[in-house]
Amino acid sequence: QDHKPSNFLRQIIENDLAQGTYASRRWAGSPGDAAHHAKGEPDPAKIRTRFPPEPNGYLHVGHAKSICINFGLAKEYGGVCHLRFDDTNPEKEDTEYVNSIIDAVKWLGFDWAQLGQAQGAAASQDCGAAPYQASDYFDFMYRAAEALIEAGHAYVDEQSAEDMRANRGDFGKPGVDSPFRTRTVEQNRTRFREMRDGKLADGAAVLRAKIDMASPNINLRDPAIYRIRRATHHHTGDTWCIYPMYTFAHPIEDALEQITHSICTLEFEDQRPFYDWLMERLCECKLLAAPSPKQYEFARLNLTYVITSKRKLAQLVNEGKVSGWDDPRMPTIVGLRRRGYTPTSLRLFADRIGVTKSDSWIDYSTLEGCLREDLENTAHRAMAVLDPVKLVLTNWDEVMGAGHLEPCTQPALPPAPQGASQGPEEGSVPTRHFKIGKEVWIERDDFLEEPPKGYKRLYPPRAGADGQMLPGNKVRLKGGYVIECTGCTKDANGVISEVQATVIPDTKSGTPGSATVKASAAITWVGVSDGLQAEVRLYDRLFADAQPDAGGKDFLAALNPDSLKVVTAYVEPSLANVPAGAHFQFERHGYFVTDRVDHAGGKLVFNKITGLKDSWAK
Ligand code: ATP
Ligand code: MG
Ligand code: MG
Repeated sequence: QDHKPSNFLRQIIENDLAQGTYASRRWAGSPGDAAHHAKGEPDPAKIRTRFPPEPNGYLHVGHAKSICINFGLAKEYGGVCHLRFDDTNPEKEDTEYVNSIIDAVKWLGFDWAQLGQAQGAAASQDCGAAPYQASDYFDFMYRAAEALIEAGHAYVDEQSAEDMRANRGDFGKPGVDSPFRTRTVEQNRTRFREMRDGKLADGAAVLRAKIDMASPNINLRDPAIYRIRRATHHHTGDTWCIYPMYTFAHPIEDALEQITHSICTLEFEDQRPFYDWLMERLCECKLLAAPSPKQYEFARLNLTYVITSKRKLAQLVNEGKVSGWDDPRMPTIVGLRRRGYTPTSLRLFADRIGVTKSDSWIDYSTLEGCLREDLENTAHRAMAVLDPVKLVLTNWDEVMGAGHLEPCTQPALPPAPQGASQGPEEGSVPTRHFKIGKEVWIERDDFLEEPPKGYKRLYPPRAGADGQMLPGNKVRLKGGYVIECTGCTKDANGVISEVQATVIPDTKSGTPGSATVKASAAITWVGVSDGLQAEVRLYDRLFADAQPDAGGKDFLAALNPDSLKVVTAYVEPSLANVPAGAHFQFERHGYFVTDRVDHAGGKLVFNKITGLKDSWAK
């Protein structure tokens, strides 16, 4: 196991494990590891964490951080992480999102029934276990609410919404008791059952916890715990017309699943006292048993040039600013995947940014760096010409033979780094094959008629200081021959339509003559005879502003108009039959992936993931 730096969550967990805080827990019957254990046995999971998304949208890079933290910690400490759908809000949820969340977690390399793996037992037994869903606990939540009523800890409030808001008070201004706060247990029980039985209109009443209307923490001023909402739930249908509030439901979900460490983002810090209050009351009522789960908060991920609000991402999709949730410019997990980010790169990213308790912005280049690190030694190399202009070797037929095509080879992977224990065995590196002939495609900017000082690529003969003609520049066509530039042709608009050069025979790469002629640079190219046409999608950041929605800014105004440029490129013939979702390094250009959606049936479509070097700082 690799050594990860410690952080405050690891310290808390290690401390709990050392003290046996959760050692007395009995296994309560979790779907994920039912195969191994009987109810009432000590819980075999050393810790239990959970990732509890609301299935109301697609997950984004911030969720990936949370997934890596929760599943990662469980895996590391012999525990289990539950994937739980927090589906207590009937209106916004959909099974489309449920499925996309399951896909995202699996794709990132995690499983919600990991115990077998952690213990070295057969993990396969557990695969296919159903995730948890909060709506399975509606019955228990209802009973918990009645138990609070019986113990005098909850009341049905029928103030208008405005009165309730006004009477809640504010910072530095205590709240005012509701006139319904002194209802008897009997009255509350009757009224709550009437709420459940559909006798009251939506919004006519709420059940509130009875805590302290003067608390400095506004979340403790008798928070609402149940509301009336006639809405069909995607899982429980029309069984209920009252639904628990998130703040009430969430601690109960954790407790029923015997979660030990309930890890969430900082905005829930003020909810922690209510979480603890509820756990204590429900233990007193004997509905739950100690030890209770505990909530811990970490700073959410803020990534430069990215927004991570589901609502705003939905707006981009709905207003057609992007092609969908999986547009390669989207920070959604499906978008990142289609863009070419790998599970390894995202897990590496989560490790690298770490877990802290203070908000900060992470530079987007950190994410790109993780991708490069993953692909550097594993992505097959290829040559691609993204902005092609034709180069004609005018002496080819004469010196090489008319119509001759010379086979060339290059390794598909770089040599293993010095001293590396892994990497390809000597001689086992796959080889790319392509051919050079009279005509090749080169990058338009690899030729300049009037080169600035220091330019090392192709330029034609020109007059020297003494008026004598100097020869054109010599460069190597990578993996092929050294050539000498002789000139160019322009079209009616003055745009260069062809570059000319002569080939210097016997200088082919890998032959004894290759070192006899000095080339000032090596340029990438693709043969006209065997090059393949490809659509290449060049992506740039979606927003031009590093913090597009900070401080309530209009993030739509910050959209980068040049975030997508589609070009017709030529790529080498080794890419003829590559599958969708395959990663490559196009030499000199960066990392590319075949598009998961549009690359098919002989149509080559590549997405640019990122360049070879960090260019964001410029
Ligand atoms: P949004 O506010 O965009 O709708 P959310 O926080 O409501 O997102 P949930 O589905 O409730 O989305 O989130 C599931 C989990 O992911 C929560 O525990 C939440 O704290 C965590 N999470 C959400 N956004 C981030 C983020 N940017 N960084 C880290 N964790 C996050
Ligand atoms: Mg939420
Ligand atoms: Mg949120």
